[in-house]
Parts: sequence; C-alpha cells; structure tokens
Amino acid sequence: MQQVAVLGSTGSIGVSTLDVIARHPQRFRAWALAANRSVDTLAAQCRVFQPRYAVMMDPDAADTLRAVLEGECDTEVLAGPEGLQQVASHAEVDAVMAAIVGAAGLPSTLAAAEAGKRLLLANKESLVMAGHLLMAAARKAGAVILPIDSEHNAIFQCLPAAQAGAPGLEGVSKILLTASGGPFRSWSAEAIAAATPAQACAHPNWSMGRKISVDSATLMNKGLELIEACWLFDVAPSRVDIVVHPESIVHSLVQYVDGSVLAQLGNPDMRTPIAYGLGWPQRIDAGVAPLDLVALSRLHFEAPDEARFPCLRLAREAAAASGTAMAVCNAANEIAVEAFLAGGIGFAAIPEVIEATLAAVSPVEPTSLNVVEAADRDAREVAAWHVARKGDRPNPGGEK
Ligand code: NDP
Ligand code: MG
Repeated sequence: MQQVAVLGSTGSIGVSTLDVIARHPQRFRAWALAANRSVDTLAAQCRVFQPRYAVMMDPDAADTLRAVLEGECDTEVLAGPEGLQQVASHAEVDAVMAAIVGAAGLPSTLAAAEAGKRLLLANKESLVMAGHLLMAAARKAGAVILPIDSEHNAIFQCLPAAQAGAPGLEGVSKILLTASGGPFRSWSAEAIAAATPAQACAHPNWSMGRKISVDSATLMNKGLELIEACWLFDVAPSRVDIVVHPESIVHSLVQYVDGSVLAQLGNPDMRTPIAYGLGWPQRIDAGVAPLDLVALSRLHFEAPDEARFPCLRLAREAAAASGTAMAVCNAANEIAVEAFLAGGIGFAAIPEVIEATLAAVSPVEPTSLNVVEAADRDAREVAAWHVARKGDRPNPGGEK
C-alpha cells in the first residue's frame, strides 16, 4: 500500500489524482489532502477518503474545516505552510503529488524532494523558479521525480531507460515539445488583444485550472514547459523544439540520431500521466478511454507564431539570462494573469507586464531558496506596479 499526499487536492489535477487513487484501493491510500481555502470540497474529499491529515493553507479555513469534520472523521486538520511541509516530508508518506498552482507550491515540493519521496510533479512553476535547487535536492535525497505535465510525462516515457528511473540522453538528438496552440491559435493579433477571461479559459482540448488555462492561451505555458524540460532532462534550450499540434493527441516526441522519432499518444486526459506516475514502473488502469485513431483520422503540426504570442520569446529570453530570471518571469506572469482574470488588465498587457518586469529586476545566482523567494517578491512588486499603471489604478509603490 502506497501512502500518497495530494497537495492541491481540490484543483483539477488533485481531483483527477483522487479519481485514479479511488480505482486502486488495494494499492494507494490518500494519506493527506491539502488545499488553500476550498473548505467544502476538501471536507467532501475527507469524508470519502478518510485521510490521516488535511491541510488548509488559510488558517481561518483550517478552523472551519476542523469544525465541519468534528465527529465525522478522524482526520487531523493542519494549517499554513508548516502543515504543508509536514505532510510533504512525513516519514509515513511514500509519494507526494505536487499539484498546488504557482509559486505557492515551491516550499512543499522542495520539502518532498529533500525527504526523498517519489515526487509526482505537476507544479511546473517550482522547477521554473528553482530548478537547480529542486534537482539537486532530489539527487541528494534519492527522490525519483516523475513528471505529471503531459508533455514531460510523454518525453519521460520516450527516453531511453525510463523504466530504470534515470532516463538518459544516449542517442537523443532533439526533444520535440508539442503545444495545442490554445484557444487563440487561429485568431488575429487584434482579436487576441480583445480576448476576455472566459474566452482565454475555454481551452479546446483540456479542462484545467484558470491560471494554467490563461498560460496556455498566451503560450507562456509552453515557455514554462521549455524550462521544465531543460531541468528535468538536463538539456539545453537549443535541443528542445516546440511544435504546435492542435489535436493534443501526440503529447510530445523524442528524436534520435538514427532518424527514429518516438512519441507518446493518448486522449487528452490528465489521468493517464497521473496513473503513470502513481504506478511507475508498472502500468495501471487510469479510467481513460482508448484512443480511436480511425475516428481522429488526421493529426496536424505547425510552427509556433512568436509574433502573436510574445510570451514564448520572453520565456526563452529569461531562460537565456538564467539565474533568477525565470523566477522573475514566473512571478510577473502570475501577477499579470491574476490581474487579467480579475478584469484589471487586457490580454495583450500580460506579455507587456512580464517584459517590463524582466527589464527592471536583474537576475542573480539562485544560490538558496531565500534568494529565489526574494527575486519572486521583487518581481511581484514591480509587476503589480505595472499592472496598476496599465489598469489606470492608483500607484501602490511609487515610480520604479
Ligand atoms: P487548480 O487551480 O485547478 O487547483 C489549484 C490547487 O492548488 C487547488 O487545490 C488550490 O486550493 C491549491 N492552492 C492554490 N493556492 C494555494 C496556496 N497558496 N497554498 C496551498 N494550496 C493552494 O490548478 P490545476 O490543478 O490546473 O494546476 C495545478 C498545477 O498543475 C499547476 O502548477 C499547473 O501548472 C500544473 N498542471 C496542471 C495541468 C492541468 O491539466 N490542470 C496540466 C499540467 C500541469 P483551493 O481550491 O483551496 O484554492
Ligand atoms: Mg503541459
């Protein structure tokens, strides 16, 4: 029986993870569940899965959850970052699903790596911000990182020696990262500039949380995934090509020196990579319908358009600048996306805020978590100032 801590259990990835766990009650136990403040959803999950611990980041939400569960189940309720770190590194935990969205997921993801857990990594932002620290911690503690992001899971499956847990790059010439192109793939630049949050969140193939849905619409998601691939597989950005594939059936590919190209295909359902991560090195049922190639009939591939989607260029530039530049890029993106979703800025302002923030915050060596978190804080402050200016709201921090 594997004891699993599901961090971000109330979100899109968290719910899919619990769906796979529920299909294998003899094999996995949801030992801990964690979220921010969705009390009702977490309470319902606790009633079904009876975890040992439930964690709410928000202390008031933790008090409410404790009161709601009183007398109903034996789950102990913890609060705040300490509670998250405690379950992520607890001796009884075998696997940690890191599915908190954004920079908020970094400390618990790092704690799981430092504790040598099987790390099911959905929270790509933690690798983008602190890839060096996270990979070093995993190496030192012997943590196996299983990528849950569908593209990286596909690449992991197509690399040599994936079954041994340390995929190498022998004979590999390129990694081909596929991108759906998002909901605005065929839209004009003018139409994209006027896009609403509802339109940006209406992904054609995947059902996901709102932040990653907007990232998919700007193509920042692919920029973050490029960096994610470089850290996970120890490759330079020049060895990763991005290919737009609107059907999201080929989840990514690995090209070898002899001309062979291996791909992983499947219906766009995150339960496939989640089941792969949970069951690895064995294959387990994910509840996903088999792929019907005849019904699909045709698959398409095209080059990404960096003119209409400047976020891809910005992520590449941040990767080239290295150091804390990616943490800055990530933080500015989180602030800009939040503002866009709240109606504070337009869609076209998202890359503008990121570019201005990258220009203002100089990268430094990411020598510790403190250094990365300081860069994250600085970038958020600068990005918030640019958001306020674009949204024509009062200037919170003065001229920067
Ligand atoms: P959702 O927005 O659906 O869920 C986010 C989860 O994180 C919720 O459980 C939320 O809790 C929790 N959370 C948010 N803020 C905090 C915080 N400060 N502290 C603790 N918990 C917090 O996101 P997704 O499931 O879509 O994405 C999760 C991660 O997985 C992201 O990093 C994303 O990039 C990655 N990913 C997602 C994919 C997908 O298909 N959805 C595909 C590939 C990667 P609450 O409900 O209380 O707010
Ligand atoms: Mg992905």
